[in-house]
Amino acid sequence: MSQAYKIIDHTYDAVVVGAGGSGLRATMGIAESGLKTACITKVFPTRSHTVAAQGGIAASLGNNSPDHWTWHMFDTVKGSDWLGDQDAIEYMVREAPAAVYELEHAGVPFSRNPEGTIYQRPFGGHMQNMGEGPPVQRTCAAADRTGHAMLHALYQQSLKYDADFYVEYFALDLIMENGACRGVIALCMEDGTIHRFRSHSVVLATGGGGRVYQSATSAHTCTGDGNGMVLRAGLPLQDMEFVQFHPTGIYGAGVLITEGARGEGGYLTNSEGERFMERYAPSAKDLASRDVVARSMAMEIREGRGVGKEKDHIFLHLDHIDAGVLAERLPGITETGKVFANVDLTRQPLPVVPTVHYNMGGIPCNYHGEVVTLKDGNPDTVVPGLFAVGEAACVSVHGANRLGSNSLIDLVVFGRATGLRLKETLKPGTSHASLPKGSEEFALSRLDHFRNAQGSTPTAKIRQDMQKTMQRHCAVFRDSALLAEGVKHMDQVYASMADVRVSDRSLIWNTDLVETMELDNLISQAVVTIRGAENRHESRGAHMHEDYPNRDDANWMKHTISWFEGWGGKGGKVTLDYRPVHEYTLTDDIDYIKPKARVY
Ligand SMILES: Cc1cc2nc3c(=O)[nH]c(=O)nc-3n(C[C@H](O)[C@H](O)[C@H](O)COP(=O)(O)OP(=O)(O)OC[C@H]3O[C@@H](n4cnc5c(N)ncnc54)[C@H](O)[C@@H]3O)c2cc1C
Repeated sequence: MSQAYKIIDHTYDAVVVGAGGSGLRATMGIAESGLKTACITKVFPTRSHTVAAQGGIAASLGNNSPDHWTWHMFDTVKGSDWLGDQDAIEYMVREAPAAVYELEHAGVPFSRNPEGTIYQRPFGGHMQNMGEGPPVQRTCAAADRTGHAMLHALYQQSLKYDADFYVEYFALDLIMENGACRGVIALCMEDGTIHRFRSHSVVLATGGGGRVYQSATSAHTCTGDGNGMVLRAGLPLQDMEFVQFHPTGIYGAGVLITEGARGEGGYLTNSEGERFMERYAPSAKDLASRDVVARSMAMEIREGRGVGKEKDHIFLHLDHIDAGVLAERLPGITETGKVFANVDLTRQPLPVVPTVHYNMGGIPCNYHGEVVTLKDGNPDTVVPGLFAVGEAACVSVHGANRLGSNSLIDLVVFGRATGLRLKETLKPGTSHASLPKGSEEFALSRLDHFRNAQGSTPTAKIRQDMQKTMQRHCAVFRDSALLAEGVKHMDQVYASMADVRVSDRSLIWNTDLVETMELDNLISQAVVTIRGAENRHESRGAHMHEDYPNRDDANWMKHTISWFEGWGGKGGKVTLDYRPVHEYTLTDDIDYIKPKARVY
């Protein structure tokens, strides 16, 4: 069968899959060290979802209020509900200021204070004095288009380096041999050629899989393809049950209104006009962490105090803020409010509802970006040749709940760290062993299977079944009965993949085929997400299990890892196990931050 496809071979020291913030930063660092580098991306680099990031990037610069990296570390650990690995968190928060200055020098047009320093705004869960408060101004912003500014600057910089870009190439599967990654197979979507990349290392920077759910702030391209590839390579994903719901997606449209809106003084009200966050988080109020705010909103709606005809959403007020300040600091969302909710937010409140936003879980790795797995009792076994960065990865710095503006910093800090690791461990020009015979076969048989799929169910129907099931059974509030039923449903939805119908058989811009392969990636993630949620008998961060409403450190302060067998509706067996949380810091400069009750 592989004879039917034209295969073009390439050899590189390193191949990065993904050209969002994390993939571009990794590509730059790797290429800079003299390694022969390729970057493969299914969308043009500046169309990656990073472009949509609004609010900003966290670093303890202390420009607008006193700050210190230890405070940033405390907030991140508390935000993670103590599921984050503290060695990795220490690494991230200490590297953060240098990473922001690097972006500044790369040309990111940050908003400025009158004296010329980078403007920083408050964001949820970021406090002064080791959580004591008041809120800290830590989030560096380029108005409300920070991701746009960052991604464009990174892309322009990346052109300076000697890296080859393969744009609008869809990575299909990893080439694995004896537990090591040897390369990756990709489809050129424009002409249907198959590209086999032999490489000493592959860096997965493929982003999150928000599209597992019906209503998500993420782009339609956020299908977690790297996570799907990892599962098919027989490796586990980690902490997939932790899915972040952002408090303020526009009701009906799902489009994001940045937390920066509340950072600049916005607040939420219910149908009685009450600022209800004062009840749930007396000290941080509307700037409590996202899981807390989203849950409080869902509670108000559930108790009949939602707004609108169906009483199923909440109001976000910005109408009290000076119009000049809105125009300067939040111009993007002012426009978004008009377009997607037909609201002039200088005069009226915006209808908002908690909306899927971020995957805390992903490909388990250490703070060098090296992918790890549990093997022969060692939970930190490095998978040779495989790295992961960005939202695809689970380092884990975000644990059970990510703080706003901590993702953009994660992208650049760990993108850079991956480059440094490769520089340390790989010499340019190291010779390549030949690939195992038939290294293309798995990827091609799967491609060929879907291209010729003659079942009776359209891809869009199966995708909708999956999204509805996840939205209904695995959202903000979860309980045993709801999850058990959801697991059953998801198994059926997964099995229905065997009956998928693809009607376009061509290899030239076959979006039907590519969307089906994206769905195959999404659906395995959906299954391990809901299984992990059903299995975790406690409430922690974004995982609120109503039959087990408390955090249970004695039994559950551990990462879930999940393996999945099969693809295309075949198999479907899930195996769950655990990795310990790193209860230690990177250096002696700070002690391990011990678990305590999490109140805002
Ligand atoms: C609307 C919105 C606003 C946000 N605002 C903020 C914010 O203000 N601050 C903050 O810290 N975080 C924010 N976040 C989160 C943050 O932006 C994301 O987590 C982050 O940008 C993800 O970056 P990434 O590099 O991991 O992946 P992405 O930017 O999603 O890029 C993924 C890349 O992988 C490539 N790719 C994927 N699959 C394949 C494949 N099969 N073959 C080839 N290439 C592939 C894509 O082409 C793309 O280049 C926001 C997220 C959203 C959705």
